[in-house]
Amino acid sequence: MLFCMKTVSAFDWVNQELEILKNQNLYRQFRILENIKATHADINGKNTVLFCGNDYLGLSRHPKLMEAARKVITEYGVGTGSARLISGTTTWHSALENRIATFLGKEKALLFSSGYLANLGTLTALIKKDDLILLDKLSHASLIDAAQYSKGKLRIFPHGNLSYLEKILKASKEKRKWIVTDSVFSMDGDLVQLDQLIDLKNRYDAYLVLDEAHGTGVFGKNGKGVSEYFEVMNQIDIHIGTLSKAVGSFGGFVAGSSELIDYLMNHARSFIFETALPPSICAAAISGFDLIEEEPELRNRLWKNVRLLRSKLEETGAPLLPGESPILPVVFGDEKKTLDIAEMLMKNGFLIPAVRYPTVPKGKARLRITVSAAHKEDDIDRLINVVKQIFS
Ligand code: PLP
Repeated sequence: MLFCMKTVSAFDWVNQELEILKNQNLYRQFRILENIKATHADINGKNTVLFCGNDYLGLSRHPKLMEAARKVITEYGVGTGSARLISGTTTWHSALENRIATFLGKEKALLFSSGYLANLGTLTALIKKDDLILLDKLSHASLIDAAQYSKGKLRIFPHGNLSYLEKILKASKEKRKWIVTDSVFSMDGDLVQLDQLIDLKNRYDAYLVLDEAHGTGVFGKNGKGVSEYFEVMNQIDIHIGTLSKAVGSFGGFVAGSSELIDYLMNHARSFIFETALPPSICAAAISGFDLIEEEPELRNRLWKNVRLLRSKLEETGAPLLPGESPILPVVFGDEKKTLDIAEMLMKNGFLIPAVRYPTVPKGKARLRITVSAAHKEDDIDRLINVVKQIFS
């Protein structure tokens, strides 16, 4: 009768915790995409428009990036099979690092396997036990994790409240102070008040670490980011970015002074102990930077779409947060309601998943609508029609 006995799994506690997530409407699942074409993909066999990614310029499927990657795969193969400091550095890694440094007007740059790992490696390598880290409450999870894993003393200030930040700076006794921030807040889509932050950094002699994950390729006259938009590029001590959003490829980077990069090469554990990025990915990223520089039309198209979608969403009465970026958060608050609305959108052929805790605070669930240069006006019109039906 052995087959009748209920076996007790060593992971019953895992099932119980998953049940709790489900009861709280916080359980997450994959959606499998097939047949991806620009902003469209098939999901469960149904053609669906995506308004949720970070491929702001539509470069991830640009023929120039795809061709660059294909050529390099033919010559170099698929993987590197080694860490950068062993045998994982090819001409493509060093060409991309030079390209990033030149693009940002910095002395040197260093690649990481992702923006997450760039934040982790940089903060944990540089910030010491007696240092003070100052972080905006809505900073990206990778900055929060990195700050927590570092040995410094962490103080979190309310989102965008720079007078609060100044009070902490004024009272601080630590020799080294690090202001760490996103340039575009990933879930609210608003910008950091970078000019005021630079002023504080200078007055209180702090370092500024700027994560331009959503700024690169999108903001500034030449797409160099929010620091270009505020005309303060040369005042950013440590510029962190990702190659996985507007650049269209994959990976992360840090750019700064020559000694800073040498230090990170020798101390950043998430750089030293990881396998180097595939050279094909580096070649694609170089083409991404080329297009950002050579085709401002891509950025113009993106901004035209941002303005169009924002003005039309405002007309629908959707609870849209104010701001000016390709991230348009519609905040419903309640997790179940947000899931239901996301499901209705899905049934009507639009993928905009419900973003919930822990990505945003509990009770602040939202649809994080994002738009790209690759969306057609027709995609936007059709989305707005569905949103109007849902709200009517
Ligand atoms: N920093 C911010 C502000 C982000 O939004 C993200 C990704 O969503 C990252 C860092 C991590 O970048 P990556 O996806 O390259 O790991």
